[in-house]
Amino acid sequence: MKRFPLTGLLLALTQVAALSQTPPSQPKLVIGIVVDQMRYDYLYRYRDSYGEGGFKRLLAQGFSCENTHYNYVPTYTAPGHAAIYTGTTPAVNGIIANEWWDPEWQAHRYVTTDKRYTTVGGTPGRVGQHSPAVLLSSTITDELRLAHNFRSKVVGICLKDRASILPAGHIPNACYWFDDETGNWITSTYYPDSTGLPQWVQDFNARKLPDAFLSKNWAADSTMTYEQSFDNWDAYNDGKYFSPFNGKAMPYNLPELKKKGGYSVIRFTPFGNTLTLDFAVDAINKMQLGADDVPDFLCISFSSPDYCAHQFGIHGKETEDMYLRLDRDLARFLNFLDKKLGRENVLVFLTADHGGAETPVHLRDIGMPAGVFPESSMEKSLENVLAAALGVTGDFIHEVNNQQIWLNWDAIADLEVSPDDVASVIIGYLKQQPGVYDAFTREELMMFPEEYPFASLMRRGIHQKRSGDILYQLDPAWHADDQFFGTGGTTHGSTYAYDTHIPLIWYGWKIRSGESFAPVDITDIAPTLSAMLRIMEPNGTTGKVIEPLFK
Ligand SMILES: [Zn+2]
Repeated sequence: MKRFPLTGLLLALTQVAALSQTPPSQPKLVIGIVVDQMRYDYLYRYRDSYGEGGFKRLLAQGFSCENTHYNYVPTYTAPGHAAIYTGTTPAVNGIIANEWWDPEWQAHRYVTTDKRYTTVGGTPGRVGQHSPAVLLSSTITDELRLAHNFRSKVVGICLKDRASILPAGHIPNACYWFDDETGNWITSTYYPDSTGLPQWVQDFNARKLPDAFLSKNWAADSTMTYEQSFDNWDAYNDGKYFSPFNGKAMPYNLPELKKKGGYSVIRFTPFGNTLTLDFAVDAINKMQLGADDVPDFLCISFSSPDYCAHQFGIHGKETEDMYLRLDRDLARFLNFLDKKLGRENVLVFLTADHGGAETPVHLRDIGMPAGVFPESSMEKSLENVLAAALGVTGDFIHEVNNQQIWLNWDAIADLEVSPDDVASVIIGYLKQQPGVYDAFTREELMMFPEEYPFASLMRRGIHQKRSGDILYQLDPAWHADDQFFGTGGTTHGSTYAYDTHIPLIWYGWKIRSGESFAPVDITDIAPTLSAMLRIMEPNGTTGKVIEPLFK
């Protein structure tokens, strides 16, 4: 039978178009995007300056869980990434902080440090001495690998080692982070690339993109007004921070700063995001992520917004500039995914590992209560107070960190003083200090009624074998001092909304456009992904499926 050729062709084309727009039963690629230190309000604070293709596109075409919070303390990078991907809190996954006193090591530890392994592709030694062994429960990425009998590919990418390692879980195909000394993307011998970087990573490193990014100035964009930032904020950038940006102002001469700070300089600039994204796009292309029907998972974390806000705070023009340019990078990435894989084949979620506080010195300057608690000198102060109160001098305390105190039980036994006396002297002193809301032993915290403010957030942050013996909570707008922020900068870590309230947007695949203000915990992301992917939840999951997404 003779058919009319044009109609047949049109019909065929329509069928192809219809087929390509019907989401498959599972996405081909899941992409987790974590923006380090992105507060919820940044979606709207800088909205007028965002283009149509980045954050605005996610909000308009995706589903936003507007009321998503961290449900434990401390709100730091390592616990944040762990909670997103394990669906549980430090009490179960064991990631109680970025660093802490490790009772097992009897030493201070950095979260992912593992000296059994070394660097692949960069500076030998410390920078590659990492593994996820410290993470006690499985991740959604682990479960995806197990569910599909290792046919799903999982990749972690972030400038920060811990924010690449923890999301990618225990059994990824690859995991990469940034080496400040060589400017290379590297991995550790823990991972499958243990004998050398794959050719595509070597080729990417050989392009020396960090050199290109750091050969220019970081200047304000002349088309932007920066209405959400102060013009005179530079006065707060007084050089108390260790970074090469101390005492400088925009435009930054990056080649000059690089002489002092090396490749680490890129971490503080929007080009750190661009570099991360360029590498992620290359990973999708070269590792053929999303190429077949078995779902793959790419974990991307953008660290630069965190370094920037620690240095310049919320009101610095640099932070606004960081988000304007990240918005453009996101637009570029979403366009790439549309073209490469088709929106209906890709499931994206975007969230943050914690928020960030208003800069305390600035709040005080404008007449609001705020302060900085001298945590870095607290061990010494407490040792002096204990010696005076107990009449013996000794090393009573291992470490004061993350608003926790690890007692030296051996020394306390040797000195023949009562542990209860040590605890009550410490707690009595802490309670009198400005900015301290309350102080208590770990045992007391476990007995507090649920109505005690923040009791459940603090309890979910306690791991029985790892956490400190005495804890304290600061007043709102107070945070601990450390070397990681300057006078004009900020930090995070508390139970308060500015640290716990973060964005959560779902986009692509079967996600309909919409928003919900129903309360969502950060630990709900992983079980929700399990529901979408029809696989088991991570083995320590305490979160629940976000139902409004499925209505
Ligand atoms: Zn962080």
